[in-house]
Parts: sequence; C-alpha cells; structure tokens
Amino acid sequence: MRFVSLLGIAAAWAQPDAPRPVDPGGAEQAPSDAIVLFDGGSLAAWRHPDGRAAEWAVEDGAMVCKSGKGDIQTMQKFGSAQIHVEFSTPDMPNATSQAKGNSGVYLQGRYEIQVLDSYKNPTYSNGSAAAVYGQHPPLVNASKPPGQWQTYDFVFHAARCDADGKVEQPARLTLHHNGVLVQDNVNISKPTPGDDGTSMCENGPIRLQDHFHPDVKDTPLKFRNLWVRSL
Ligand code: MG
Repeated sequence: MRFVSLLGIAAAWAQPDAPRPVDPGGAEQAPSDAIVLFDGGSLAAWRHPDGRAAEWAVEDGAMVCKSGKGDIQTMQKFGSAQIHVEFSTPDMPNATSQAKGNSGVYLQGRYEIQVLDSYKNPTYSNGSAAAVYGQHPPLVNASKPPGQWQTYDFVFHAARCDADGKVEQPARLTLHHNGVLVQDNVNISKPTPGDDGTSMCENGPIRLQDHFHPDVKDTPLKFRNLWVRSL
C-alpha cells in the first residue's frame, strides 16, 4: 500500500503540466495574467457602441458616467471569462425602484447583469442588483449603500454552438456580489432587453449602461478596477 502511494506521488511530481503561476494581485491590483480594461487613468480600451471615443470622465481613478453620453463598451470582444468589476451607485434619495442608481454590465454585449441601488430600495426581484435582468433574481441582496464601492466577480461561460450556429448549451453565469454568491451557475437562455442584436454564438464586448439619470448631482455612477481573464 505504501509502495503504491509513493508511486503516485512520484507520478504527480513528474507531471510536466504544473499549473501556470499567476501573481494574484491585491485589492486594487489585477492578477498578473489579466487584461486590464481600466487602470484608473485611461479610457483607451473603451468606445461608445457607435464608435465614438468614450465621453465618460476619469476622476480620482474612476470612470464616471456622464449621464446622457450613452453606454460605453470595450473595443475587445470576449468569450468565456472571469471578469472583475467595481462600481459605486449614485445617491438619489428621491428616486425609487428602477429609477434609483440604474446601470448594468452587459456580458458579450447581450446579457445585462443589473446594476442598481438595491440598498433598501424594493423593486421586482429579477430587476434588482446582480440580477440577470428579467431572467434570474440574485440569491440574496448583498448591496451596499450608494456611494460605496461594490464588487461583481463573474465566471461567465459563453453559449456553446454547433457548426450551423445553433445554440447547444446556453451561456452560464456564476456571480459573487461583494464576495457573496448571488448567481450559482445559472443558464442565460436568451439575450436581455437592450442587447446589441448579435448572435449568441459570437464573442462580444463588455458594455456599461448609461441609464440616464438627469437628476443625479453630487455622486455620479462610477466604475473602477475592471479586468478580464479569458477562460
Ligand atoms: Mg440596468
């Protein structure tokens, strides 16, 4: 028995395909093999969907949504990926439900994961923060108050398609909101409203929603520290 287990250990040591080392980074530093989409300084990785240079502002290391400028999206397109996003919703004390701090992170330009000020702000469940909009409410509401930084950590598997472009396996999503599991390997069966109309079989950009909040004053919608690791 002991002889067998020693052989096993020797075989494990001999494997040439040891896991590739990755520096995991830190609280505000991406892992060493990530594609950094926003490092706090430049919007170079982003455009509006119509091709304009991104007209959001950069302030204090954050991308700031200038409401009315429109959504922005990555120039690069992605398939299956681990994605990290930090956001801060605006303080809108007089707004309610979907009108309060609404934004979104569109995966592949077609699946909106809702961003909303869901802190003590009731709304329909599959439209609250961390919902796959219209399809899957989050398991729990892990929202922080407006103006505080929050995190979304996605594990996204793109739809798998056959040679004819027919979906064999829908996209799947696992999501942690502020470190709390809120989507547990759910199927995303179809694009959500506001999708870009492309085939679910194609890679797509990450798009951030400008939901247009003309009444926001002092604390605008912000994003920071966005990175992707393709899977
Ligand atoms: Mg939204």
